[in-house]
Amino acid sequence: MARGFGLLGDEWSLFLLRLMLQGLTRYSEFRAALPISHAVLTARLDTLARAQLVDKRVYQQHPVRSEYVLTERGRSTWPILVSIWGWERAQVTHHAYATPPLHHKTCGHDFLPVLTCSHCHATTGPRDLKSAWGPSGGWRESVPETTTRRRSDSRRTAVEHSFYPDTMAVFGNRWSSALVGAAFLGVRRFTDFQTLLAVPPGLLSDRLSSLCAHGILEQVQRAPRPDWAEYRLTAKGLAFFPVIATAIAWSERWLGSERGPAVSIVHRACGSAFHGVLACDQCGAVLNGVDIQIGPED
Ligand SMILES: [Zn+2]
Ligand SMILES: [Zn+2]
Repeated sequence: MARGFGLLGDEWSLFLLRLMLQGLTRYSEFRAALPISHAVLTARLDTLARAQLVDKRVYQQHPVRSEYVLTERGRSTWPILVSIWGWERAQVTHHAYATPPLHHKTCGHDFLPVLTCSHCHATTGPRDLKSAWGPSGGWRESVPETTTRRRSDSRRTAVEHSFYPDTMAVFGNRWSSALVGAAFLGVRRFTDFQTLLAVPPGLLSDRLSSLCAHGILEQVQRAPRPDWAEYRLTAKGLAFFPVIATAIAWSERWLGSERGPAVSIVHRACGSAFHGVLACDQCGAVLNGVDIQIGPED
């Protein structure tokens, strides 16, 4: 689960996945669509290929031509991306970079995705679910490992995270994504975050402040001591849940452990194991990746 979140912590990778879902395959097309340097583009395409999200196909002709094509693993990230764009469009008011409108070809309307239960089809939020760690999950396992040196370089991270600062406030830092995950599992107290995730207090305080500054968490009440403080998800934070749910589902499918799921989630209303599927808020139909048109920018 944590490994899947790590892949989402890079804006260029999110942009590249989006362009590939829109049908672009060529290096030159990515360069034309994004303000990205050769070095960064090459590095990101390599990372996506190593993570088996993208298949690089080289055609031996003159000149040599290569294409980057999404694998099934890469293509199946669409619910996560659609959830991110939906959240950005609905919840984030000041955009440095426009998120694309999502168009549902089936009903002909621009839509926002809604998370529903695959079993009973009800719209489902975090409070409708009962979550517990599964056989391969746990607090410590929920903190992504540092995957690159880049991530620990705060100066460069600050520059790179300029397109979707709110999404990156969660996914751009391994501790932040673990903290938001813990908040969804009901953790509130500073000392509980600190103990359960084994996060150093200075770092924890820093990450919690950043999540509050982005309106994802809020401090419940002023505590006489900082370590007594409690934090809870705001409405905007709660609305991020479909992103987390689709990211967990994708990770379990592609990076899951043989020991079983990292989290077990039950839909209280119908009593089944929860499998979230996205539906169109306009027509109510379950969304399918091929029925979604992304953009153009508005
Ligand atoms: Zn259900
Ligand atoms: Zn629709």
